[in-house]
This record gives sequence, structure tokens and C-alpha cells, in this order.
Amino acid sequence: MKHYIGLCLLLLVLATNQVVAQEKFITLSGKITDAGSHQPVIYANIQLKSGSIGTVANTAGDFIFKVAEKFWQDTLLISCIGYKTVTLPLPSASLQDMDIQLEPSVYLLPAVSVNVRDGFGLLRKMISSIPANYDTADVRLTAFYRENIRLMADTINFNESVLDIYKTYHTGRDHKDQIHIIKGRKKKVDWSKDPQLYGWISNITNTAYSSLNEDLQKYLDAKNNILNERNFRYYTCDYKETIREGDHNLLVLTLQPKDDSRKALVQAKIYIDEATMALVRCELKTTPAGNDYLNRHQKGGIGYTIMSKIVKATIDFTNISLVITYKQYGNKTYLSTVQRHWDWVVNSKKRGMKDVPWTGDFYLLVTDMTKDSLQRFATGISNDKASMNNEVGNNYDPSFWENYNILLPELQDSVKPKKDAARPAGKVTHVSNRQNGFTRADTLRGALSPLRSCYDVSFYHLDVDLNMETRSIAGSNQIRFKVVAPFNRMQIDLYANMHIQKILYEDQPLSFIREEDAVFVSFPATLSAGSEETITVYYDGIPQVPDFKIPMHGGILWDKDEKGNPWVQVVCQGSGASLWWPNKDHLSDEPDSMRISITIPNGFTEISNGRLQRKTPAGSDKTRYEWLVTYPINNYNATFCIGKYTNFKDTYVSGHDTLTLDYYVMPYNVERARTMFAQVKPMLACYEQHFGKYPFPRDGFTLLEGLYPMEHQSSVCIGKIKAGMQLDYTPLLWHESAHEWWGNAISCKDIADMWIHEAFATYAESLMMECSDGKDAGVAYLNAQKDGVKNREPVVGVYNVNHIHYDIGDMYTKGSLLLNTFRFVLNNDTQWFTLLKDIQQHFRYQTLSSDDLVNYISLRTGKDYTWFFDQYLKYTHIPKLEISLKEKGNNLQLTYRWLADVSGFKMPVKVTLAPERFGFIYPTTQWQTITLKQMREDDFEVDEDHFYIQVTEV
Ligand SMILES: [Zn+2]
Repeated sequence: MKHYIGLCLLLLVLATNQVVAQEKFITLSGKITDAGSHQPVIYANIQLKSGSIGTVANTAGDFIFKVAEKFWQDTLLISCIGYKTVTLPLPSASLQDMDIQLEPSVYLLPAVSVNVRDGFGLLRKMISSIPANYDTADVRLTAFYRENIRLMADTINFNESVLDIYKTYHTGRDHKDQIHIIKGRKKKVDWSKDPQLYGWISNITNTAYSSLNEDLQKYLDAKNNILNERNFRYYTCDYKETIREGDHNLLVLTLQPKDDSRKALVQAKIYIDEATMALVRCELKTTPAGNDYLNRHQKGGIGYTIMSKIVKATIDFTNISLVITYKQYGNKTYLSTVQRHWDWVVNSKKRGMKDVPWTGDFYLLVTDMTKDSLQRFATGISNDKASMNNEVGNNYDPSFWENYNILLPELQDSVKPKKDAARPAGKVTHVSNRQNGFTRADTLRGALSPLRSCYDVSFYHLDVDLNMETRSIAGSNQIRFKVVAPFNRMQIDLYANMHIQKILYEDQPLSFIREEDAVFVSFPATLSAGSEETITVYYDGIPQVPDFKIPMHGGILWDKDEKGNPWVQVVCQGSGASLWWPNKDHLSDEPDSMRISITIPNGFTEISNGRLQRKTPAGSDKTRYEWLVTYPINNYNATFCIGKYTNFKDTYVSGHDTLTLDYYVMPYNVERARTMFAQVKPMLACYEQHFGKYPFPRDGFTLLEGLYPMEHQSSVCIGKIKAGMQLDYTPLLWHESAHEWWGNAISCKDIADMWIHEAFATYAESLMMECSDGKDAGVAYLNAQKDGVKNREPVVGVYNVNHIHYDIGDMYTKGSLLLNTFRFVLNNDTQWFTLLKDIQQHFRYQTLSSDDLVNYISLRTGKDYTWFFDQYLKYTHIPKLEISLKEKGNNLQLTYRWLADVSGFKMPVKVTLAPERFGFIYPTTQWQTITLKQMREDDFEVDEDHFYIQVTEV
């Protein structure tokens, strides 16, 4: 005779594949939710009333259940602790997307005497009943086992197996549990990025065995077992309630650490069958003391110490949660499931990893039990010291689980993906400055070729003379660089219209050839890696002037002030710095510092970046201004502004730090400027509060009136101050100043990701509104940005070609709105503003890509948000919430889903769950329905103020 315990998911596991293939099945799938809260009911049981097969829903409430022909007359039971069991006749054919709602079960307390409500009393009674309830005979189990280990959002180990287990009550060396793997598979995971680290932190040993070791009733005397009565003194134990599971009453006890006891390693919830006093379920979670204990004792002793030294990384437990369940068969109970969730943080200075979240899920599910012809396994026993990852073999058979009823893993490819409402990935057209496609010139300008990546610029000294009559410049740029890889040829950049006189290296001229705007410089011998070298490029020419009809078509702007005096400024974001000076014109490489010397006619003031070092006469009628930037600076930020300026100064005191403020304006605008600049200190305070300290304190903060607003680093230009301007409300000033954090302190690697500069700076404007006038003002400010969004092409552009969009506006407005939406997706302002500061801190003085940023956000929040950023950044559509509303009596039935380009788009969004009360719903690309109590259609609203989405009723 072969006995099956309740959850016999793998009934067919011992049959051959051929037999399985001939069987007919109906397949049921769907979602189980709480009828009241509409949240998924996790790990609900789906089983047949008389047949012995079943399955369990996953953490999203999803299930798949295959029923063989011989059970087709049976009845479906869906049950979960705390809910009324739902009974359904089996449908006559396969049925997908079933929507099953469980009603919470209400249970009236039975008339039990007060003394048994004493928690420890009940617990002791359960323990004393173990010999009667728990079978101590040897048994043979079939079990399903899964490991899923992730580092941040990446899966680093995923394996599944069907196990044959010889389980015994004995613990002696020669008579202990044995495991034999019937069938296993593992996902191919790429460890090549960091084989040592990944190998170490993903190969967890012993886990199938150690799952068996969690059998609380078998190891009753174990030192740390909470059922070991010696440990009771560290805890308080309370009877909480009685709940219903199917036909049984369960007593629920809670075990809590007593007075912060250092010995209380866990807190627990214990479920006991009231009739038999059998242990049914135990939920455990480590306390801080428990985590400390694990970190001191359970990380693998000397083995851990050695590995952490070799790999140069440490791991620390931050949480372990554990759910152990028992099932009854006949009049005995047996271990049924062991579900473990581990959280670690990984730290490695070498890798720049700080508290990187690692999560592991280990799931053992017993599906079949027998006591017949019991024999210990003689061969094929799995090594109890090895990792399952190594034990299951190297295949990942996609049809591995066909015809088995298993937990749906939260992995796309373990079960055939369901159809979702993803739009067919439409072709995205980029309307760009290169409507006829990109050319070799664009690649030369935009790609980080080996001729560019072979060196890393450490310093520029730009030293030029500006002839304001001929509008020409002449001079040199000294380029100091570190050799990253040996080379004898490098690329620098200077627009083709500019003339190169010579390029010197160790006082010798170098040969060079020019193609489009690139300059290929040859060295007489190979430069060796690691060395630091200097070349100086001597050049002259008349730089181009901007064409404002073409976005980001920059140049040198020539104008006159109100008194008719010449006024000159560089504007080159987009077109690039190489339109006026020779450099490595790729955003990924910033010099660590830069000296800028500009010689101009006497009588004018010249303002560049950083601090003015000296002003020296150059001949009789000229002055040489010398500025020093002591931080990395991106090329398009290096600038000059020349005019008949006047200067006044102030200081901004923040904590122990004093920041110098330098203001340059036209003399006729001094009074206006004083009024306008009164906002600077509150603005800096607002930004420091949300983004962290001002990033360039050594260089000071200079703000100047100029011809065109530009975020020139530490020399921010706000355009012209004009009569009639509102002087106490200047979003332009806020925007350009915010670039000191977003664009200057952290800069994108490729102009395709320029949204990192513009979206955050535009969003900062709304934060400044919020700082000065409150949250509602900030929201109103953001909502006004919606009109500007065109949604004609994606926010992120084409990489490696210096792609400048025609519709550059979306990276500002849509970018800002997506950031605001993300703030409300997080729904936690502390987390949001900490995240902004962390981004600043982490990437300070560096260049980054969108991917770097999104990965970092996922890391810091502990959740993968790629789906969110992909939808807003890479597609033109914003997510569309499709809803339908039906009044049913006094209630409103709401059906909803996302229509999005990203499959699996799952943004939570707020709607009115009750009249004038917003709360979250969790739409996916699948339809869902909820009932809103006491609501009419008129009461229903979607929170479009905080979520930038489209809403349509269908
Ligand atoms: Zn900007």
C-alpha cells in the first residue's frame, strides 16, 4: 500500500515519461485573493477532495494545477489558514485565469476554560502530545525542493529537484536522513563577472538536508529549538486567537522575546490543532539578537573566515524567516513543508559593494509519503556536505515539470509565461539631429573607441587668446593623461573648421591626421600602460555660432549688453566642447582638474569655472585671466563669459562650512540681481537638505548673468536679467543651480542619457517650490509640466553617436514627472530623499549611464525597478491604466489592468478605495477586479496628481 499525504503534488513522479505523456489532463490556473483586501492569498492549498493531488499558490497568489483524467469527477478545495474553504466542482475543461476570492473566516471563541488560554500551558500541552501525534517511525518521502538566490535583482543560483528522502527519527551517524535526487535541474547563471564572489555566495551547502533539520518535533532537544523548554525563560508566550482551517480549529500562540533578552533568537507564531493538540504550523523570524548570534556562530566558522579573506568580501545575516508545517495522515502528523527566506548584506570594499542585498529562498515540499518496504538507500545518496547547486547536474530542461503540479516559481521561464497585455514592442523612431541616419562622423564623435578608451585624461590646461574683433581664438590646450592600455595612436577631437598648428609631445611635434571632427595623433613609440603623459595642441580659428533652430547646436554667442558693449559666452552642451577647444570630447572622461586661461582686451571681465587665480597683463592692451577648477568637470561645462561685469559677494553658512558666493551681473542690473539672488541661500539649503552638501565647496558657487542659461560648473549662468522679470520666483535660477548636483557632480557617460542631468534639474525646481511654498505647490508645479510632454520619442536616445533629439523637451518634463511618480511608487519620502542623497554620494564626481543609475536604485531600494524606468525612458507611451466601473448595489466594482510596453509592468497606483480616501491598488498587465464598499461611480478617482499615467475607461 502506498500512502499519500494531502499535498501530493508529484503523484506521477515515479511514472515514466511515456506513461505521463499519454495521460489526459485539464489544466487550471488563476489567482487567489482575499475577498476583502484584494491582496493575494499566499501559499493557499489547492487540492482535490478525494484524490490525493494538490498544489500550492505562490507568493503572488498564482497557481497552476493539472488534473489527470481519473480525477475528473472530483471536487476542488481551496483552503488557507484564516479563510473559509472554497469548494468547487472540477470544471469539465481547462480553465485559465480563474479569479478565486477567499472570504476571511470568522470564528467565535469556544467556551474553553481560562487556564488553557495561558500560552506556555498550551505550548507544554502540545509538546507533551508530540509522542501521540508525531510519527517517529522511519518513512520514505518524495519531496520537491527549490533554491532561488539573488544578489540585488540578479539570480545567481536557481535549482529545482525532486528528492527521494529516507527520513528517520534517529540522528546517529549510521542511521540518519538520506537524500537521493531523482531528477534535478539548474538555471545557467553567468558568474563570469565575479566568479570568486558569486561562487562563494551562491553555493550554499547542505540546504536540502538543513531543511530537514528544521523539523522542530524531531529535534526537540536541540539547543536553539524554541520548543526546547529550556528556552522558555527567554520568552513570553501568549494565546492570540483561534482560527479555522478547513474543518479544524487552530489555536494561535505568539512567542516574543522577554525584555530584550539576548538569548531570545527568534519570535514565533505557533498554530496548534485544538482537537488533537498537534503542531500544525510554526512561523519564525530572527530577532536582532538572533541575527547577531547567527553572524557570530553560524556563518561557517573558520571556513567563512578564510573565504572572506580570499574573496575580500563579508556577508552578514540581516534576517531569517522560516515557516514549517506539518500534515496529518491517519492519526499521525508528518513534516510537510519547510520554507526558508534568508536576507544577507554583502560588503566588499574591493568591489565598491556596500550592504548589497542578497536574498535566498529555500523551499522543501513533501508531496508523497510511504512506509512500505522501507530500506535505507545503499547508493546514489546525495552528499550532505555539498551544495544542491552542484548536486542537481548541469541541465536546465524546460519541460522538466511538465505534468507535475508545482509551485509557480517567480521566474519567467520555469513555467510557460502567461499572455499579458504588453503592447507589441513597437518600433521606436528617433527624430533626431540626424534624420538621414547616423554617419561615420557621428560614430567618431560619439563612440568610445579603443583610440579613446586607451587613455584617461587627468588634467587640461586650456590657454587661449580671444580676439573680439575677428571673433577668433588662438592658443593651446595641454592634455595630461594616464595611459590605460599601451598605444601609439590616440583620438582627440576638434571641429574640422578649426586649424591645428602643431601637437607637441616632450617638445617634439607629433604627426596627426584629421577625419571629420576627429584628430588621430601618432606617437613615435608605444606609450606604456600606467604612465602619465602630456601633449599640447596649438590651434586657432573662428568657432561656430549657435543655431537656436536646432536643439543643442552650440557655439560662441556674440551679443551686446544694454549699453551697447560686447558680451560673449560659450554655449556648447550637445555640440560639444571640441567646437572651440581640442580635447577628448566624450562625456565618459572628465579631467580631475582643469586650468583655464583666457586672454581678453582690457576693460572687460572674464569669468570661467572654479576660482580666479590671478589676472596678469598680457602686452599693453590685454589681460590674462587664470581660473582653476579643482574637481572633475565635464567638457561642455568649461566656459568663458566676457562682458562689462560688476561683481558682488556673499557667503552661505551651512553647519561648520562657509561657501563663498560670487555674483557677476551687468552694472545696470545690480539692484534687480540683489533681489533675485536673495533666493540663493534658501535654495542651497533646500538642495542640501534633499541632495546633500554643495558638491564644489573649494571652487565656490558663482552665479552670473549671461547671454544664455547654462549650468557651467561652479559658474552657473542664468541668462539675461531683464526689466519686468519676476525677481522672487526664478525657476531658471533653480534649474541651472540644481545642475551643480545633477549634471556636474554626477554626469552622464553618453548624451543619450542626458535626462540624468535635465530630469533631476527640472524635478529640483518642483522641490524648490515645495521647500518654499509647501507640498501642494510642488505638485501643482509638476502638473504644469505635463503640457510640455510630447511623447514623440523615448527619453533615452541612441548611444555611441552623440545623439541629440529634436524633441529634447521630454527629458526635462517627462523626466521630472517620472521621478515624481517614482517618489509616490516608493510611498516613503524618507526613503526617496535618502535615495537622492545616496545617488549623489555614490556617483559623486563620476560619470554614469542610465543602467548604472537604475541598477543602483534597485540596489538601494532592494527591488528591481527596471520595468518602471524602461517604460518611461525607453518607450514613447506612458503607462495606461485601463479601468471599468460597475455599480453593484451600494458598492462599486472596479476592474483594471496596465497597458504598457514593458511586459510585467506592475506599478502600484493610488485610487479612491473609499470616497475621498486614496489607497493603493496593484495592477498588473492582467485584469483584476475588486469591490469598493459604499462607493458610487462618481466617487471614483485615480491619483493622477502624483502618478504620471494615462487613464482610460473601457
Ligand atoms: Zn538644464
